[in-house]
Amino acid sequence: MIKTNDLSKSFSGLEVLKKINLSVATGEVVAILGPSGSGKSTLLRCFNGLEELSGGRIQVGEIEVDANQSPRERNKQIRKIRLNTGMVFQQFNLYPHKTVLQNVVEALLIVKKSPKEKAITIGENLLSRVGLIEKKDQYPQRLSGGQQQRVAIARALAMEPDLMLFDEPTSALDPELVDEVLAVIKELAHTGMTMVIVTHEMEFAREVADRIVFMADGVVVEEGTAEEFFSHPKTERARRFLKIEE
Ligand code: ATP
Ligand code: MG
Repeated sequence: MIKTNDLSKSFSGLEVLKKINLSVATGEVVAILGPSGSGKSTLLRCFNGLEELSGGRIQVGEIEVDANQSPRERNKQIRKIRLNTGMVFQQFNLYPHKTVLQNVVEALLIVKKSPKEKAITIGENLLSRVGLIEKKDQYPQRLSGGQQQRVAIARALAMEPDLMLFDEPTSALDPELVDEVLAVIKELAHTGMTMVIVTHEMEFAREVADRIVFMADGVVVEEGTAEEFFSHPKTERARRFLKIEE
């Protein structure tokens, strides 16, 4: 589903991603862990074209983005990737002047040009799935952070993406609201959705991820099953990280 070849990214001379070679199979759930500043968010943002590549290439499904492509070609490819990829950020970024349901169906109406009735049915089904159907006519600011994040997940799912990217979806939440959001993501993982999740929730990563990718200083330091990574980390860097996070 995703394959990167020597993916590199620099910000004004600072090399943030250094020749990353990573694959994510269809249906796989991959958790990306690593210390602050290691490049996790940048990598995720490269996956759906929110960052331009400085070198190398990325393949998402059949679509390829290459550092050497013309801007025009690249933009064309990135648009295609975004149509098939849902992304959920730390900050929920819901439209404050739209209701919960309007937030969820917005892209269906505008991007997919779905008929209104059909969009509403899809939107209501998704809101039921994340446990928020009774909030459909509320405005986001009346919802808790956990509820807003569940709306953001429903909104991302509305486009029926093949791939879901999560960047620390629970980091902005009060501790008592974390579990309800993780439960929704777990449920999604069980449906066979391909997912890449950047998280600091170690227990969650252990439970939900088929594979752990551990990054530090812009490189993938090690990867393996959750059992391998948490019980038998291969590198000193990973051991140090796990001690701090405990
Ligand atoms: P965290 O766990 O704190 O979210 P992270 O692993 O997601 O960290 P990134 O946000 O990917 O780390 O940042 C990696 C490095 O790239 C950092 O040194 C950061 O300062 C730098 N960086 C990220 N975005 C930009 C930008 N737009 N301009 C300049 N530097 C950036
Ligand atoms: Mg980050």
